[in-house]
Amino acid sequence: MLLFCPACGNVLVAEEGARCHRFACTTCPYVRNVTRKVTNRRYPKLKEVDDVLGGATAWENVDSTAEPCPKCGHPRAYFMQLQTRSADEPMTTFYKCCSARCGHRWRD
Ligand SMILES: [Zn+2]
Ligand SMILES: [Zn+2]
Repeated sequence: MLLFCPACGNVLVAEEGARCHRFACTTCPYVRNVTRKVTNRRYPKLKEVDDVLGGATAWENVDSTAEPCPKCGHPRAYFMQLQTRSADEPMTTFYKCCSARCGHRWRD
């Protein structure tokens, strides 16, 4: 990620400040303190989605499809689709083996 100095337009360089990281311009006195990490929290991580899908009621009333289980070879699996990333990316499809003894879960 490149940041540019709003005063002179040069690229800012990361520095170790006294209490935090900061970005400083190499050609003028401009300094921008970094008070907190910038993180993208708009979409759930796949790990969190997995936790949601692990709930006891998560797979109730979902449709099944002709998707063979990679673990036991059962010919059908329950499936649901979730938007896990940005809206312009395709949905992620989650499957759960229809065999009650197997119950294997996977995703595309
Ligand atoms: Zn500058
Ligand atoms: Zn299975």
